[in-house]
Amino acid sequence: MECSTAESMVNRYIDRSLNEEELEEFLEHVTSCSSCYDELETYFIVHEAIQQLDDEGESMMDLQHLLEQDLKKSRRICLTRKITRWLVLTAAVILILILAGGFAFLIWNIWR
Ligand SMILES: [Zn+2]
Repeated sequence: MECSTAESMVNRYIDRSLNEEELEEFLEHVTSCSSCYDELETYFIVHEAIQQLDDEGESMMDLQHLLEQDLKKSRRICLTRKITRWLVLTAAVILILILAGGFAFLIWNIWR
């Protein structure tokens, strides 16, 4: 992914409006590109600071730490989706094999 593409996704990452594929590519890029990570961090901190101003009474948290947590959470979401897709696919394949096996068994019994 190009830096310009990643930079254009920063706001959408913060708004949680990236789709699954975009999110995965974005996370991959900001993990390996310090310039885009810094960009994300700046926007994220500003966004969180504004949020915290709205939530009166809450103490100022460690915002940089918060971004790390947020990235970790996003990566976990990506991984969970991947595992879920893999499990569904595996279950589908097993089901097809069972059905095909049952069907073959039936045909074999009929024609015997
Ligand atoms: Zn970059």
